[in-house]
Amino acid sequence: MKAAVVHAFGAPLVIEDRPDPEPGPGQVRVRVEASGLCHTDIHAAHGDWPVRPNPPFVPGHEGVGLVEKLGEGVTHLSVGQRVAVPWLGRACGRCEHCLSGWETLCEQQVNTGYGCDGGYAEKMLAWADFAQPVPDGVSPFEAAPLTCAGVTTYKALKVAGVRPAQLVAISGIGGLGHLALQYAKIAGAQVAAIDVTDEKLELAAELGADLLIDARKDDVGKVLKAHGGAHAAIALAVNPAAFEAVNSGLRRGGKLVMVALPAHGTIQVPIFDTVLNGTSVIGSIVGTRQDLAEVFQLHAAGRTKVEYETRPLASVNDSIDEVLRGQVKARIVFDLGTGR
Ligand SMILES: [Zn+2]
Ligand SMILES: [Zn+2]
Repeated sequence: MKAAVVHAFGAPLVIEDRPDPEPGPGQVRVRVEASGLCHTDIHAAHGDWPVRPNPPFVPGHEGVGLVEKLGEGVTHLSVGQRVAVPWLGRACGRCEHCLSGWETLCEQQVNTGYGCDGGYAEKMLAWADFAQPVPDGVSPFEAAPLTCAGVTTYKALKVAGVRPAQLVAISGIGGLGHLALQYAKIAGAQVAAIDVTDEKLELAAELGADLLIDARKDDVGKVLKAHGGAHAAIALAVNPAAFEAVNSGLRRGGKLVMVALPAHGTIQVPIFDTVLNGTSVIGSIVGTRQDLAEVFQLHAAGRTKVEYETRPLASVNDSIDEVLRGQVKARIVFDLGTGR
């Protein structure tokens, strides 16, 4: 089977032939149909973050495909069933986080495409308990971006406790932002969409944004404040200045939810304003299996629309460059050529 492999941080990925991986106890082998390109994969391939993966490894945590082989003890999945293999490859199931519904904070977790090989391959392994069944009628190309971009933004809105009639600012309308916007609308909120390209602001308008803020010329904080301030701001743009801008546009009691992960990013949080205004700064990382199940349920019910463009896996290095240049409207999904 073919896989795109990182051999050294920052070096181009190499497409190579590898033997089919054998599922161990509790695992399944998945014949990958579609695999999304998330910015995290680029950080993984570049070794940008304090905790680094160990090359050689296969990135990718938006792999979707059909179960091809069951490992020992797997009884709840069947061969031919479509599953998604998310960032949370496995968690311990026993710690305080796992037991309190926060498996995404488990310190023993293994992350797909980071701590084990991921979805940039024709075949991959998954821990059966963490492979999420994809409902009938949801295409693998739409399921792929939902597996990280979807669940991550859905969870961020849950963490913010968004309620109907609130004003929610979505900073960055890309692979994540276009989905965040839709989840905020589903929650009944008014949505302010913030970006720096005409194309993405147009996409936000098409998806029902109530207020468009062009951060190239508008003062984001002032515009939000002119509308009463945001009850919640979801920071998705990979740029620390954008985090500070939306933080300054919160209303009293508002919440900044940090989601994007700029390499070595830090922001200044003014103590005086934070104390007087009672605002919160919260980090939110991906989502649980239950969150992903809900994301798929909403999509199967026709409530969300996924913007994506397909590419062959062979174009992996060019695709990464496109994302880094900010030229991709929504999400790149690799078509492994096995799904149709
Ligand atoms: Zn991701
Ligand atoms: Zn745990």
